[in-house]
Amino acid sequence: MSGLTLDTVRKDFGHFTAVNDVRLSVPHGTFVCMLGPSGCGKTTLLRMIAGLDLPTSGAILLDGEDITKVPTHKRNLGMVFQSLALFPHLTVGENIAYPLRIRGAPREEQKKRVDELLAMIHLSGYADRPVAKLSGGQRQRVAIARALTRSPKLFLLDEPLSALDAKLREAMQVELRQLQQQLGITTIVVTHDQREAMTMADTVVVMNKGEIRQAASPMEIYRRPADTFVADFIGSTNLIDMDTDGAGRAVALGQAIPGLKAPGGGKAVISVRPEDVQLTAPGSEGAIAGTVTFVRDLGGTIETFVDCAGKQIIAVSTPRARPDVAVGQPVGVVLDPSVCVVLAR
Ligand code: ATP
Repeated sequence: MSGLTLDTVRKDFGHFTAVNDVRLSVPHGTFVCMLGPSGCGKTTLLRMIAGLDLPTSGAILLDGEDITKVPTHKRNLGMVFQSLALFPHLTVGENIAYPLRIRGAPREEQKKRVDELLAMIHLSGYADRPVAKLSGGQRQRVAIARALTRSPKLFLLDEPLSALDAKLREAMQVELRQLQQQLGITTIVVTHDQREAMTMADTVVVMNKGEIRQAASPMEIYRRPADTFVADFIGSTNLIDMDTDGAGRAVALGQAIPGLKAPGGGKAVISVRPEDVQLTAPGSEGAIAGTVTFVRDLGGTIETFVDCAGKQIIAVSTPRARPDVAVGQPVGVVLDPSVCVVLAR
């Protein structure tokens, strides 16, 4: 298969398993974001793909070739890791040309490639500028360009945008994605920022405790999380315990929810996004009885906190659809089965 394959890749540090038998297929040209809480093993996995660490067991294949033990410099990778490591005493052009210069490429070829890459990162005319005189975002783009100088097969980035301020980071996310699409290069980015992952990725890989919990498109991850960890980690959600009554009906918060079914008819958890929770008049048919406990008006969105049988449910709406409620008021909460995801408890 063309692309990257991780076959049961494992990394133990003594008795601690940082990456636990991970399997993943990344088709050629895919943009993957690895996302997960601190310490879940993202960087360790990326370092093994880069050849900076050797797996304890398992294999890494690039375009069908086993590269598990191939040294980093022979893998044809472009890498941008957290510490940029641009050469501060060199110009922008010299930094970008560096990977060609050390291989003894002719000056003409170096210049042509530098010009191509500068155009690509929207810094044409900056070749002679010292790196020290660039802004943070410009430096980041130069680091990205330098990693691409030798047209690598695989582009690996570890938290590449984390040092930038929020506005610049958002702009660079779009730029990085557009650049990747233009080049069609298989790209793997480690990030802890889910907005960043949702913006850039074809495939989001959600990790926890050394394991991949789900690998899917951003929308699939958001709309159809595989388990309660993914549901809770990506965006915000209401997780509500669900039981099955004697007649086989799903019951949550003391109310039968027609249209929902627990797998095997037992206990489960419902995940429902706050924007999918509807508030209605108390006593409406099928609605769960609750009381408003707090209203958070954030300008663009309004969050209504509702106590339903001791469980806090959050409903989010836009100002246009502002629910006409006040703290202390009884309301009905509607869980539409078409937007509820039933997960194993
Ligand atoms: P973060 O988002 O905080 O960078 P991460 O998901 O990238 O976290 P890793 O850096 O891959 O996490 O670390 C995974 C686990 O492996 C952590 O618990 C870490 O302490 C441990 N670990 C990483 N490198 C080593 C090492 N060289 N020796 C021992 N333990 C290590």
